Amino acid sequence: MGKIEEAYRIIERLAKECTPAIIFGTKGVGRAIQKLLSANHVCIVCFCDNNKELQGKAIDGVMVYSPEEAFLTVRGAVVIVSAINSESRKSIFSQLSSLGQNKIYSWELFYFVYLCGFKKRHVNYESFYKALNSFADDDHVVIDILTMPITQRCSLKCRYCSYFLAYIENPIHFDKHSLVNNLKKLAESVDVIRNLVIIGGEAFTHPDIDFILSETSKISNILLIDIITNCTIIPSAGTTQIISENGIFIEASDYGKLSTKFAGLKMLCESNDIYFSVTSVSKNWSDCTSNEKHNRTDEENRNLFKHCFNRRNCNQLYKGEFHFCQMSSMKMDLEMIPRTESSDYVNISDESLDRNQRRQMMRDLLSQTTFVSACDYCQIGKSIPSAEQADKVLRYKKYY
Ligand code: SF4
Ligand code: SF4
Repeated sequence: MGKIEEAYRIIERLAKECTPAIIFGTKGVGRAIQKLLSANHVCIVCFCDNNKELQGKAIDGVMVYSPEEAFLTVRGAVVIVSAINSESRKSIFSQLSSLGQNKIYSWELFYFVYLCGFKKRHVNYESFYKALNSFADDDHVVIDILTMPITQRCSLKCRYCSYFLAYIENPIHFDKHSLVNNLKKLAESVDVIRNLVIIGGEAFTHPDIDFILSETSKISNILLIDIITNCTIIPSAGTTQIISENGIFIEASDYGKLSTKFAGLKMLCESNDIYFSVTSVSKNWSDCTSNEKHNRTDEENRNLFKHCFNRRNCNQLYKGEFHFCQMSSMKMDLEMIPRTESSDYVNISDESLDRNQRRQMMRDLLSQTTFVSACDYCQIGKSIPSAEQADKVLRYKKYY
């Protein structure tokens, strides 16, 4: 029996037996599973989440409770865990078993059906399912979160943009074929890219966004695709359809008054069944634009690297190079810091490398525990006002 049929059998049984279902986790994957199950007449009684800020609120008319409250209120329910991070998932499973809950499903099978059956993402089903189930294995080469800037153009000009856009005199859109080919090569060199984040500048300014999204969606070992937008542009009907069909999520950065199309974009997503999450950028940012060398000890840099949020959450594919973070790729590209030998990154676009060599290089890079040369230029803790706009192109010092 195919995987889609197998999942539909489970869903049909839950619906037929009127088994109540609780979804653990309220983010994109949890919401996708909620859509799938509700459309197939499964009774979703509530979400549960460990985030106290969400507890007691309703999402799409479904209440969010703490796990304890959820299982006290509803007896005999099955729980579907939607946490995609393997560490969080493990800890949720042990939390559920300590609460005596043993009817538990993990998200993979349902998410697979959501994307390939409910939505129409054109991946190779077998490869996609294999990628879904392989990413937690220690032996696999895994990229957790990969950001891919597709353009240097932005409708805003934030002085402290971590993509240094306020410093770029003649911003360009990156060539659609190079972007897609480099992404395909990178995907071939690893087992799974858990979450691809398409970003700009402002991604919706790119004239070839439809091609980029369609081609990216066909890559079978990329599980989730998000687009980050500053909510100043409403995508065309064609782009909206591609986003909806392929189950791509929109991550809206809310810049307050600057996000002039926020309400329109939210409505567009709601009416086209597109998951829309919001991050407020009103809080202070940290200044990442400095290129002062700190001459820290190796031990200090190692520590910085080990605990760095960007290292785990902002791996980056930029101009054909895979870097641990945008600080490394952007600062090297702008010559703010010296370009080092490739132990800091993998040149994916290097035609002289075959797939096995690239794979070995990716494995070596991702498992390294020291630090990258850019770490010594990172400024820690200096906070600056968010989204302050520059009125002209800013200057910076090159390292030489
Ligand atoms: S909105 Fe601001 S921070 Fe975001 S990409 Fe544009 S300039 Fe950079
Ligand atoms: S350069 Fe190092 S410390 Fe700075 S963001 Fe990247 S990984 Fe983190």
